[in-house]
Amino acid sequence: MTRSLVTLLAAVLSVSTISAQKPADRVYRNGVVFTADGQHSAAEAVAISAGRIVYVGEEKSVAAFVGKNTKVTDLQGRFLMPGLVDGHMHPLEAGLKLQECSLNYEPITVEEMQKRIQACLDKTKNEEPDTWLEVVSWFQEGMVPAGVKTSRATLDALNTKRPVFVRSSFGHTALANSRALALAKVTKDTTDPLGGKIWRDSDGNPTGLLEDAAQEFCSKLLPKPTTQDDVESARLALKAMNAQGVTTFLDADAPDESMASFTELEKKGELTARGHFAPQIAPEEASDPAKAVATIVGYARKYDQGAPKVKPGITVRNAKLYLDGVIAAPALTGNMLEPYRVNAGTAENPNWVAGKSRGPDMYFQAKPLADILTRLAKAGIDPHMHVDGDGAVNAALNGIEAMRKATGPTDIRPALAHCEIVGPADFARFKELNTTPVLSFQWEKPAGDTIGLTNYFGPERMKILEPAGLLAKAGARVVFGSDWPVDPLDEWFALKVGVTRMNAPSAGFQGRLGEDPGLTPDQVLRAITIDAAYELHQERETGSLEVGKFADLIVLDRNPLKIAPEEIANVKVLETVVGGKTVYAKQ
Ligand SMILES: [Zn+2]
Repeated sequence: MTRSLVTLLAAVLSVSTISAQKPADRVYRNGVVFTADGQHSAAEAVAISAGRIVYVGEEKSVAAFVGKNTKVTDLQGRFLMPGLVDGHMHPLEAGLKLQECSLNYEPITVEEMQKRIQACLDKTKNEEPDTWLEVVSWFQEGMVPAGVKTSRATLDALNTKRPVFVRSSFGHTALANSRALALAKVTKDTTDPLGGKIWRDSDGNPTGLLEDAAQEFCSKLLPKPTTQDDVESARLALKAMNAQGVTTFLDADAPDESMASFTELEKKGELTARGHFAPQIAPEEASDPAKAVATIVGYARKYDQGAPKVKPGITVRNAKLYLDGVIAAPALTGNMLEPYRVNAGTAENPNWVAGKSRGPDMYFQAKPLADILTRLAKAGIDPHMHVDGDGAVNAALNGIEAMRKATGPTDIRPALAHCEIVGPADFARFKELNTTPVLSFQWEKPAGDTIGLTNYFGPERMKILEPAGLLAKAGARVVFGSDWPVDPLDEWFALKVGVTRMNAPSAGFQGRLGEDPGLTPDQVLRAITIDAAYELHQERETGSLEVGKFADLIVLDRNPLKIAPEEIANVKVLETVVGGKTVYAKQ
């Protein structure tokens, strides 16, 4: 039976049995209901019983569901829609950051930076003199005024004896104080590690800035979070998600600790969003694809709780693979179809020409990748691949094509995360191969990390950077994933950028990014509801408001389809409901 027939039957049933309706547990009436169903139906009211939707439709018919014990909410014209499904994030890491001393990704001066870190030190005086202080979410590129330098002296000025280690939000750089460098034994004589750099002054002494792999000198000395810390991280992450309207998420690189912590909360009845988990297959596991896939299947056996139920549970049906790094400068570790450009001139008289490097080799070679994807498909596991450059996107699509050939028709739904640049010849392959691009819309704006690529990419490639609208035009089912905590969790800002492709007025970047048409408000809402539910095989139960589905829904303070697109960033969630239970209500 087709889906639409089921929906039709359900609709007929609900009309014909109205007079004999059992009162619902909850009714939302007098609202603007965005259903995200296949017919793009609009509605005014919703009724819920036993955690499922029993009515979606016109105001006048919902009265039949109101009994003396029904909790009725008069929406007074407010907007109600399906709960948000975030198709790519790192919740345990994000929750841990919420517990740590954080600079909150904000553009700040050196003095403000010192003041905030000092406040963290003052709050934890009992940790003197030896416990490491880890500071997170430092917006290094956004320091005010632009170009201001930081060094270990910035941190040595603080009133503490403790080792201090400050991590940038992009994850590529950290700043250590002198005590931290001493404990990590980073001196003038320390050589740069493979894939990392120790910044040095003119005398060769470490300045305190550590790049990529050089961060390890310090990070390996940091105390590991305890099991209790992890459970608290999961708890805080869920709280932050629910406040944004998130009712389902994918942990897009789930360590065992993440699956264990959310499972622990599930047992305690504290799991307030449906959790999906993608444990990683690391590049070195490519030498034994059978074993790599068996490890993932092992996690699924241990943690997966089976078909989704009204009450949120744990699903392990994805595996994460990293195919390349990031296209952002100065990393330039995204694998590209054409080489990055290089400056053949001088800093004063630049002359950018085609270079030789297309970025590092793919982290998985074609043959083992196809082998792993095929084995995953046979085990019923969806691959979720990190692909940032167009070369990596192309390699992933080739691997999926090989997998499709080997397995024949299956319901495997591969996802390609990030896709910051895609070769135009590959646009249509997403639809052909039923492959979902999972995009972080907040990146689709003029900003340091995008505009900073102009010299390396050249004007032609810059036109198609962050191609959400172009992929959608080519028939791809575009899905949103926040990638939290790479960025702060701000789903509504991201959805706004998905439509406008513009930065905030205060950010100092004018205009739209590239020539991509962007998405409509309707498209971004579907990308974070029904289409993301499809990515996670959950579209039969969630993602839209239809009779029989779980009551995962949110109430907003305004209508994102009616306001000016710039204003979508200001949307506030008033209530979040998961399986018929309110998990967040705005005070
Ligand atoms: Zn990610």
